[in-house]
Amino acid sequence: MFLSSDISFHIISLGCAKNLVDSERINGALMSAGFARAGDSNEADITIINTCGFINTAKEESIDVIFDALGGGVKKRKLKNFMENGRIVKKSFPVKVVAVGCLTQRYMEKMKEEIPELDFICGITDETFAGQVCSRFGITMEPGHGASRVPIISQAYSYIKISDGCSNNCSFCAIPLIRGPARSFSPELVLADASDAAAYGVKELIIIAQDIASYRWGDVGLAEIVGKITEIKGPEWIRLMYCHPNHIEETLIDCLANNEKVLKYIDIPFQHASGKVLKSMGRAGDGAKYIGLIEKLRERVPGIRIRSSFMVGYPGEDEGDFQALMEFLREARLDRVGAFIYSPEEGTRSFGLADRVPAREKRKRYNELMKLQKAISSQKLEKMIGADVRVILEERLDGSTFAGRSEYDAPEVDGIFYLTASGAGLNSIVRARVTGSSEYDLYGEMY
Ligand code: SF4
Repeated sequence: MFLSSDISFHIISLGCAKNLVDSERINGALMSAGFARAGDSNEADITIINTCGFINTAKEESIDVIFDALGGGVKKRKLKNFMENGRIVKKSFPVKVVAVGCLTQRYMEKMKEEIPELDFICGITDETFAGQVCSRFGITMEPGHGASRVPIISQAYSYIKISDGCSNNCSFCAIPLIRGPARSFSPELVLADASDAAAYGVKELIIIAQDIASYRWGDVGLAEIVGKITEIKGPEWIRLMYCHPNHIEETLIDCLANNEKVLKYIDIPFQHASGKVLKSMGRAGDGAKYIGLIEKLRERVPGIRIRSSFMVGYPGEDEGDFQALMEFLREARLDRVGAFIYSPEEGTRSFGLADRVPAREKRKRYNELMKLQKAISSQKLEKMIGADVRVILEERLDGSTFAGRSEYDAPEVDGIFYLTASGAGLNSIVRARVTGSSEYDLYGEMY
């Protein structure tokens, strides 16, 4: 048997933040099993690709990365420690490429058929993954220094996934097909995860799931579990992402209003504002109802920033529906908005719907929506000039100039705050005065 201590691995994490959490669990599990981390897939003996299977573009990216890692099928071999009759000898170990995650979960048999070069295809991974890798490749585990989860990149923030799967079954979404119905994680598991992240010195914990507002473990709902997380020493910011608009309870709004550590920020994917389209999506609601929710949040949590995401080009979306969405955006004046073009996903309820919107029209609507939101964002950020905000410093650009994020910006999806902060350190949170703005970003100086 080969010895895990002499075998290195590298994880390529694709897709969303929830997948990144799974990748960090794989990281922790393999390190606990004695494997060594490699800097990149060229160095690694085993490359693991945690794939995304959500929409076509993500699937294509996953396939490209797999074929890249397979490097045209020519397998490198390396001499590795091998235990033979109680003696360690050197034996040739052919490097391995492993695919896991949402794409493999969704298309397991098809991938086995079409990409036989892959050494191991496994769906959504769990705590048995390290053992599966060992038995598959003839490796003996030598307990190492891992944890339940080890960050892939050290950064100022960490995602805390509080449940998996989704039971909302929106007509266009493949997630329930891939990850199954919603399953909340126990408070013990969530708090252990958050404490592990705190032990790594992160300043911000970002609460995620497919729909965090559906979290429930006995009498512990989202507000309660967030409250417990804020008691953990170390992290100063708790951010809430992915709240289904129909599941936002009073207790959550109280938590946002009264808990100092919980940022005045919330991400609510409304997806659309036309009652007809939302009904077809299986998401009860409409523009008027959502405006009511937004006004309530702004009244109860002064200064709250609201992020949302929308889909254009859903089957049956006519010009009137689209204009209803545009009118909603003009009235709502949301702080941060992402938009997606509808892509039919086999196995979803909307896949069979006729009345498809032509691709050119979809693109036109997407561009119009983003143009409108860009103007709104620009106006809102300009109004922040002169304001004081807290900023987390994430990248030193030179000497005392940093790129970071304000308390109103989530990583990877929102704006950047560029500031001068002499004497400040990376991953620290400082107070800054806004001196300038652009469509999406802010500029300022520490004070
Ligand atoms: S709430 Fe989100 S993850 Fe769940 S089915 Fe709807 S779109 Fe998919």
